Amino acid sequence: MRMLLIGPPGAGKGTQAVRVAESYGIPAISTGDIFRANVAQGTPLGLQAKEYMDRGAYVPDDLTNALVLDRLAHSDAGAGFLLDGFPRTLPQVHTLDSTLEETAGGLDAVIQLVIDTDAVVERLLKRAKDQGRSDDTEDVIRKRLEVYQEQTHPLVAVYAQRGVLVSVDAVGSVDEVTDRISGALSGRVQGSD
Ligand code: ADP
Repeated sequence: MRMLLIGPPGAGKGTQAVRVAESYGIPAISTGDIFRANVAQGTPLGLQAKEYMDRGAYVPDDLTNALVLDRLAHSDAGAGFLLDGFPRTLPQVHTLDSTLEETAGGLDAVIQLVIDTDAVVERLLKRAKDQGRSDDTEDVIRKRLEVYQEQTHPLVAVYAQRGVLVSVDAVGSVDEVTDRISGALSGRVQGSD
């Protein structure tokens, strides 16, 4: 089971990724979390990533690709994984494609979390108050949403064309959205029970 969660900042990818991955017994792999852990530990990768993250820009593809390929090579990802936040650009799609082709085929499902801009801005401003993430200031939030529209939203069409896209309404409680994802996946992919 190889899946990807895609959607704008604030759509709830991280929260849903953990739940969905658990129900399939696969690891949730979040590039944002890996970058933040590196920033917190002050690693060389973290120092490089931080300057991009703090202004709402994407970390360059070469750094990001290397990080994900390394993570996918861990044994726990052998039976499948749920990617959260990668791929986010077309070059990242190509990198993932060539890696997966070397093993066993492409992604089984790409779950798109659908939510409008006003709702995500509201959620992110609330998260800024609750958690104080350094990229959750209003200016940086707007920048992240712009970058998402420009660089990541086009990936939705790519995966739709491949017949693996599952679109889910991301407005509602966390449980409601999880139920929608489970419902949409069952029947599409095997092994949900
Ligand atoms: P959000 O989806 O709310 O923006 P994430 O935790 O997924 O939050 O990502 C936070 C930041 O980490 C991004 O704004 C970006 O700077 C960096 N990042 C995460 N994933 C990638 C990626 N695949 N490519 C480039 N940068 C990334």
